[in-house]
Order: sequence, then structure tokens, then C-alpha cells
Amino acid sequence: MRQSDIIYLSTLFNIMTRLILLALVLIIGAAFGQSPDYDLLLQGGHVIDARNNISAIRDVAVKDGKIAAVAEHINPQFALKTVSVKGLYVTPGIVDIHVHAYASTGERASYAGDYSVWPDGFTFRTGVTTVADAGSSGYKNFEDFKEHIIDRSKTRVLAFVNIVGAGMRGSKFENNLADMEPEPVAELAKKYPQVIVGVKTAHFGGPEWTPVENAVKAGTLANIPVMVDFGANRPERPIEILLTQKLRPGDIYTHCYSGLRNELTSDGKVNPGMIEGRKRGVIFDVGHGGGSFAWRVAVPAIQQGFLPDSISSDLHITSMNSGMKDMLNIMGKFLAMGMTLDQVIQWSTWNPAREIHHEELGNLSVGSPADIAVLRLEKGNFGFTDMYGARMNGTQKLRCELTVRAGKVVYDLNGITRPDWKTLPKNYTRTGDKRWDAITPAPTKP
Ligand SMILES: [Zn+2]
Repeated sequence: MRQSDIIYLSTLFNIMTRLILLALVLIIGAAFGQSPDYDLLLQGGHVIDARNNISAIRDVAVKDGKIAAVAEHINPQFALKTVSVKGLYVTPGIVDIHVHAYASTGERASYAGDYSVWPDGFTFRTGVTTVADAGSSGYKNFEDFKEHIIDRSKTRVLAFVNIVGAGMRGSKFENNLADMEPEPVAELAKKYPQVIVGVKTAHFGGPEWTPVENAVKAGTLANIPVMVDFGANRPERPIEILLTQKLRPGDIYTHCYSGLRNELTSDGKVNPGMIEGRKRGVIFDVGHGGGSFAWRVAVPAIQQGFLPDSISSDLHITSMNSGMKDMLNIMGKFLAMGMTLDQVIQWSTWNPAREIHHEELGNLSVGSPADIAVLRLEKGNFGFTDMYGARMNGTQKLRCELTVRAGKVVYDLNGITRPDWKTLPKNYTRTGDKRWDAITPAPTKP
């Protein structure tokens, strides 16, 4: 026999063996009334998972709300629902560690009220499955926030608690040095370790270091990071001292491309304090917001090699329709500045998950929660604007096609998981199955 005949025969033998094995599995499975191995199979997408060093075509299978398998080929015979995601990117659900989501109080001109947004209206349609509220509540109103928003949202909502007891209710409250006690914040964080991920200090106008120092005290007592919005730019407390002396490794400097606190020196160089802070382990987060991202800061900083550790939105009612828009729009800005898709995904998934000490999130490891985004990278002529309304053109834009939260489809832009209506019975009603579908699951039979 020739070499090619041998290869042909052995391939044939291989296929026959597989078919026999498959038949056996199916017969045994049917005999014992087995449920399928997987509830949902996303087939043929380009998986980007920084935690596991994957950027390649992979199938992803989900069972009981967890990632069950990631492999080059997963047999659809073993899945209840198979969806082709060819040509799309499959990433961990996006983790946005800076939002304002305490929208339920009705308080006017307050982030513990009207300035906040209801998270589910903004998250799933942009591939976001986890948000961390950045200090809208303090220890005095956190439990109200938890009861009305955190516990009622489909989005996973985590929280940085404000060092100000009253929370983010306006400058009268946020400049009250008498309401910045570390102990009750630390006690609260220990009471809710699954939800409280850090301590926030923000918007302080005075010359004192008290808010930062007390936030760090609370963070140390509860062993959680501090996130700093450094407020007014004061010569008495320069950013260099904050980053090289006051913050601990693992603490987070948000709004890092705002330029509002000398992030760039007057000659356009990245502040040496930022570089020194990064060497010490301080984390640099985007926190775009309505007024915290300028091209004239971000572009030179990135050209000088000062990349972000994480991308976050600072979503609130002013930023939502400004240059910020949403996480995918901000990620598109970094693509426009020449960053790779793999980098941009890592900064929006695995890095922020690690920063808030939730390493079960932001990855597609087997056993991790099945929070997944399926994204389309559109090519064309696009524009991206900054806090001052200045535009940068770009040729790529990310759009969310499908979002899976805890193993179930919660958003499906083009109905790629749904049957064509013409294939259904004349009087069709709900078409899904609650094992993979959280949008229109068919009612369970009694
Ligand atoms: Zn904010």
C-alpha cells in the first residue's frame, strides 16, 4: 500500500470509531433519559480570553450557568442549543468597574439619586455583565442601595463604598471632613464581602489629605482596594505625593487621561509621579465619564507608552449621551489609537476583574460563571469624541450581538439564537428553553 492509502484508511477507521462511540453515547443517554451535556454551545467564534492566553477560533460550551468547555471542536450533539458565532468575537462578559447605579432614591442633583442610571438598561446591550458602582453610596445608605438596585438587577452589581458616610450626594456632603470615618466603612465591607469590592474617595475640593488617608485606612482594615477620583487640583496635595506615598499597591487611580490634575506635565510628558506610581503597583483606570477623557492627554500618554490597566465608563446621566456613550465606544477609541483588540478586551475583562479581587470573573475558564459577550468588529468610517467635543476618526467599531449572563441569553441583537418565524407552527408562542434563554423562554410543562 502507498503512504496516501494508509493515511486514507486510518482516517476512515478513525471516523468509523468516532461514529460508533457517538452512537453508543446517544443510545445510552436516551436509555437513561440523560439531559444534554451542555445547555448552550457557541460555535466557531474567535475567543479572546486573556486569563487563559487564548486568542483563536474556539467553541464555548455552557452548563448550569458555568463555562463547561472551551475547545477547537465541541460536538453539537451534546448541546441543547447550538448557535453559530462565526465571524464574531467571543469574550468574557465585560466588567465595568466605574459606574453610577444608585438611581432609586429620587434625590435631585445627586449620584445617590437622579444622576445615576438603572444598570440593566445600559449593560447587556453593550456586552457588560458586571458593574461596580463607584461610591454613589456611603456606609449610611449602602444597604438601601443594595435592597433597591443591587439585589434587583439582572446585571451583577458590585460596589465601592464612599468614604463619605452620606455617599455621593453633592459637594456639601462630599466636603464634610466630619463624615469620613474609616471604621464603619470597613465593618460594612466585611459584612458584605461578595458585593463590596473597594472604598471610593471623590470630588473633594479642600487642601487636606483626610479623604484619601481615611479611605486607605478603611481599605486596609477590610483588605480591599481604594479608588480615587482626586477632585480639585490643589498644590497642597499634588498627584505625585498621592501616587508615590499615599496610595498602596493595588489602589486605583481613575480618570487617568483627564488631564485635570497634571497627569501630563506642562511640556506634554506623562507626570513622572504616574510612572513611579505604576512601578509601585498603583493601578491606572480610564473612568471616561462626561469630563474625564481628552484626546490631547490620552494620545501623547499612550505614545509615550503609558497604557491603561483597565477601561471603565463612569456611566451616569451626563456621560451616557456624551463622548463616552458606553464601554464598547470607549474600547473603540483605544482601537482608533492603535491598540490591538486583544489588549482592549483584556483591559475590559480580566484586568478589571483582578483589580477588584474577583478572579472568577473576566475569564472563560471551565467552572467560571458563564458571563459572555459576543461582539462584532465593524469596519467603516467612524468618529469618536472626547470630553471637549473633539473628534478622532477611526475605522473600527465594536457592537454587541449577544450577551450571556449566568449561562442564559439576556440580549440578542439580531436574533441569532432564535428560529425563523416561517419555520414555526401557525399559532406559535414562546420559542426558547429556560435552560439557555432568559428573554422568551417557553413555559415549562406542568
Ligand atoms: Zn464617577
